[in-house]
Amino acid sequence: MKRSKAELLISAVSPDQFPTKGLPEIALAGRSNVGKSSFINALLNRKKLARTSSKPGKTRTLNFYEVDESLILVDVPGYGYAKVSKAEKARWGRMIEHYLMTREQLRGVVQVIDIRHPPTDEDVQMYQYLKHFELPIIIITTKADKLSKNKRPKHVKQVREGLGVRKEDKVIVFSAETGLGKDEAWQEIVALLSD
Ligand code: GDP
Repeated sequence: MKRSKAELLISAVSPDQFPTKGLPEIALAGRSNVGKSSFINALLNRKKLARTSSKPGKTRTLNFYEVDESLILVDVPGYGYAKVSKAEKARWGRMIEHYLMTREQLRGVVQVIDIRHPPTDEDVQMYQYLKHFELPIIIITTKADKLSKNKRPKHVKQVREGLGVRKEDKVIVFSAETGLGKDEAWQEIVALLSD
């Protein structure tokens, strides 16, 4: 796959809008504003395929991006955004949970974490939840350009320990700004499709 063709299929607000073609899917999970949209854009070499924003919490839909007619990346609404009502949080939570638990074509999840900070309780919950459902996980520690190179290993360790990452799960140091880790991330995603 060359990542030459990428398009937003649908921003779904409810499961009846999810694509039905049956292509394998990889979901992206992470806190609001952690850099999921930027990850998608960098990975697919696009500038504005996924909408990025300095304002957290705008994404309230499941966005399905089809790549090379072979794979769908699914941007899941970011968690941890405080300024929405409890009822709305619960509604997102149910939609995400429903998707993660029932989607047959889901092959794995990319969990995006800010390399600079220890994982939050919600990050840990998400990781454990994904493990519980035995979903393969790739951890992306993003915004690496904001740390000097020699500080990065310490922060990767902090993320590994904070989440309790199992040996079998890859942690990839990433930057949407510089493209660091982009090809490695893509390789890992493709590897999940052939498992
Ligand atoms: P999302 O809410 O998770 O989709 O986050 P966005 O992709 O919209 O990113 C949130 C903010 O972080 C934006 O201002 C981005 O420009 C910035 N950002 C995302 N990834 C990186 C990165 O790798 N490096 C730097 N320096 N900034 C980033």
